[in-house]
This record gives sequence, structure tokens and C-alpha cells, in this order.
Amino acid sequence: MTSVAIHWFRQDLRLADNPALSKAVEAGRLLPIYILDDDTAGEARMGGASRWWLHRSLEALDRQLGGKLRLYRGKAEEILPQLVKIYDAQTVSWTRCYEPWRIKRDKTISSRLELAGCRTIRLNGSLLWEPWSIKKQDGTPYKVFTPFYRKGCLQAPAPAMPMAAPHSIAFCAAKANDGALSLGDLGLLSKIGWHDTLEPYWEVSEKGGADCLAQFIDGGLDGYKTGRDFPSLAHISRLSPYLHFGQLSPNQVWHATERLAEDQGVPAADIDHFRSELAWREFSYSLLYYNPDLPSVPIQAKFADFEWQSDEALLKAWQSGLTGVPIVDAGMRELWQTGYMHNRVRMIVASFLIKNLRIDWRQGEAWFWDTLVDADLANNAASWQWVAGCGADAAPFFRIFNPVLQAEKFDPEGIYIRTFVPELAKLPNKYLARPWEAPSSTLQEAGVTPGESYPNPVVDLKHSREMALEAYKRLSEG
Ligand code: FAD
Repeated sequence: MTSVAIHWFRQDLRLADNPALSKAVEAGRLLPIYILDDDTAGEARMGGASRWWLHRSLEALDRQLGGKLRLYRGKAEEILPQLVKIYDAQTVSWTRCYEPWRIKRDKTISSRLELAGCRTIRLNGSLLWEPWSIKKQDGTPYKVFTPFYRKGCLQAPAPAMPMAAPHSIAFCAAKANDGALSLGDLGLLSKIGWHDTLEPYWEVSEKGGADCLAQFIDGGLDGYKTGRDFPSLAHISRLSPYLHFGQLSPNQVWHATERLAEDQGVPAADIDHFRSELAWREFSYSLLYYNPDLPSVPIQAKFADFEWQSDEALLKAWQSGLTGVPIVDAGMRELWQTGYMHNRVRMIVASFLIKNLRIDWRQGEAWFWDTLVDADLANNAASWQWVAGCGADAAPFFRIFNPVLQAEKFDPEGIYIRTFVPELAKLPNKYLARPWEAPSSTLQEAGVTPGESYPNPVVDLKHSREMALEAYKRLSEG
């Protein structure tokens, strides 16, 4: 084989079930590359936690590729044509991405390469269904999740069966002076060393993704439908970063749940519910595809005039997990310590920020973007708009989570709160979610000094709820 095929890895950092990579391997001697393109990403450039995950991912992928992965930094639009020239490549392949800036950039790149006589292979490897393939009968996109899933996804052709990794790969010899950098040169790790706290929680590799999936199928899926709401139970998969970075494909996850009801007696309701959550991811991508401004502009236009409060001190208290509301603080500290937060708690902390503190949802979205290892433009933006009540098929604004009742319902033994807010560990369950109501003797016995060892609540929950409802009323009437 004399021709050269470049596979441009992006959010498909795996060898198995990677159709675009497999095509490149068939087309020629492979030059596997990754380009860190912050220049084109602009405001959508990756946050700190994602950069750590990417660093570890590239390290692992390079090992899988026998040290052949080439790394570059700069505008992909300039680097790719240069590499095609240097290596005289006849083919460039990639797995599609759906962020608006990437769609725009990739179109320009493919036209440029094709014009120069280089074939481009662009395939789906990150979604179960292409966003444009799930539409209503009248050709317009779905705005409501349930029909999107039941009438759209489940009536569409089933997700493709996952492919094996290429049996063997013939590599193209790398050339010196092609602009490649070392992993360290990409500068993905933060100078403050925050990533050290994330390390113990994740095995960042394709194998890590496969192990995580196997573990969930073995022990977490049975009971998922109800268990997924309880943050101290292992009934969630924690697959989101692997899906975002493509260490696992959604097809692999979908098909891993095939026949589990028949063969292993996993309740069909759990499997169906889990698959519907995978479809929420598809729904977010559809929303982003048809609303490219989703990360910054409310889908429901009237929310552009909402009276947000600007309060740096309150924002900081929320970010640091020092609001004095234990379930909120537990969630924000889980995020900081692990780069992940349980979905139920994400909804609680987001509701608290938006409704009790009345801080603009985009400030919360930005913090999540920087600190989540699964930060994903589509899922993050769609979810923040959902909680803010300004998105498509969103929870209505006036449905305001009560963080105390949520904690008592979904963390009844206080296991989650005690894990992440250890200074309250000795409080009895009765007061754990509402320490401000505890008698001083109880606080003393538990070693809690309000305002010193643990903050007093930064807002009064009842009053702030009423203020939010009034602001919403003014918006609706205005
Ligand atoms: P599981 O319950 O095991 O679900 C399996 C997979 O389904 C997930 O990995 C994910 O890919 C998908 N999924 C599950 N729930 C949702 C959902 N509500 N919306 C979209 N996809 C879903 N998810 C991200 O991947 N990236 C984000 O940046 C992100 N930001 C969020 C911000 C807020 C305010 C909220 C409320 C939710 C956000 N989510 C985000 C959605 C959801 O919380 C996570 O996908 C989920 O918690 C990941 O954990 P898991 O893999 O254990 O989920």
C-alpha cells in the first residue's frame, strides 16, 4: 500500500467501532493525528477538566497506536492542508462533530481538501442517529422529547451494530519538521495542579470506558429506573465523559443492553429507561443542531428579559460549595473533587443558582463547562436551558426544586452529603439537610459551629423562591 490516509481524531478517541478510522486504514498507510484547535473554537474552547481528560486520552490512544499518534496545535483549517501536502495524502477521514463552530470549520476544510484532489471521508461515530435524520413527518425538528424518542428514534433504523477495531494497521512513516508537538507541548494540564484531584476517580482510556460499561451492565443497570435518582447508589453509569470524548461509541452502549432482559433477567423497564437517557443526549444534539445559539440564547425568546442578579459573592459561594445548603454544597464539591456530578444533584444545584440566587443560567453553564470532565456543548446547554425553564420541552420556571426536600427524598440516610460535606457528618439525619433548624445542643454535639465550621445559608429558601416567582410573573406579564 503506497497511498497515505490521514485519520483526524477528534471526539472519537478509540479504535473499536470507529467507522471513519476503519475506512482510513483500508485506504492507505495511516497517519493518525490530533489537532488542538483552540483558535477556531474561540469561546467554545475546552475547559480545564476536559483538557485534563483529553491529555490522558491522547496518552492512552498513543499507546494503543504504538506511539504513532501525531499531535498539532493551531487552526485545523491551515494544518490539515499542510499535512496533506507534506505526506502527499490521498485521503483524510474524520468522525463528524456537531458543535456549530466545528460544522462550519469542517465544511470549509472538506471543500478545500476536495478541491485540492484529496478525498475526505466524514462519517457518524458519535451519535445513534444523525440529528437531521430524526424529524417530524412535516420535516421540522421535534421540540418535545417523548415524541422525539418514541416516534422519531424508535421508528428510525436501529443504531448500527458496533464494528471491531481494525485488525492490523499499516502506518505511514512520520516526517521530521511536520510541525508535530509532544503531548506536554499542548499544555493541557493546568498550572495549579487541580487535575491531581481528578486522577483517582477515572481510568481515562478506551479500556476504561469498556470496563465502566461492563461494570454498569453487571451491577448498575438492574434497578436503574428508580435507583438513578439516588446519588449515593451505584445505579448510574458514569459513561458521560467516555461518550463525550468517544472512548466509547453510543452504538456500543446501546447494543450492550441488547438481550439483557431475555438472557439475564434485567427488567425491561430499566433497559428502556437507560436507552431513553441515551436518547436525551441525541435530543440535546438535535436541539443544538437546529439552534446553534443554544449555549447562549434562550430558546424561549421572552427569557432574554429576565431580571438576573449579578452577585459575585453568591456565585463564588455556589462554585465553592459554601452556600450553607448541604445538598447544593455536596454537589458542587463532588464536581470540584471528581469532575463529575450526579444528574439529580446537577438539577438541584442548577435550580438553586437560577431560581434561589437568580443568577443567570449562563454563569452556571460556564462553571460546569470548565469543571466537568463530561462538559459537552449540546448536553450542557440543553440541560441548563431545561432547568432554567427557557429551553425546548423545559421544566416550567415556576417548578422550583426545594433543596431540603430533594435531599431528604433522594439522600435519606445522608450518605452523599456526609461524603462531600464531612464537617456535617455527625449531624443526625433529621437536621443534615437543614442544619439551620437544629437546636444549638445538637449542633454542639455534632461539632458544627454555624457561620464558622459550616456557613449559614446564603439565602432564605422560602423568600428567595417567592422573589423568583415574582420575577417570573413580571416577565410573563411584561
Ligand atoms: P446515566 O444516567 O448513566 O446515563 C447514560 C448516558 O445518557 C449519559 O452518560 C449521557 O450521555 C446520557 N444522558 C443521561 N442523562 C442525560 C441528560 N439529562 N441529558 C443528556 N444526556 C443524558 N451531560 C453531559 O454529558 N455533559 C454535560 O455537560 C452535562 N451538563 C449538564 C448540566 C446540567 C445543569 C444538567 C441538569 C445535566 C447535565 N448533563 C450533562 C446531563 C446529565 O446530568 C449527564 O449526562 C449524566 O449525569 C451523566 O452521568 P451518567 O453517565 O452516569 O448518566
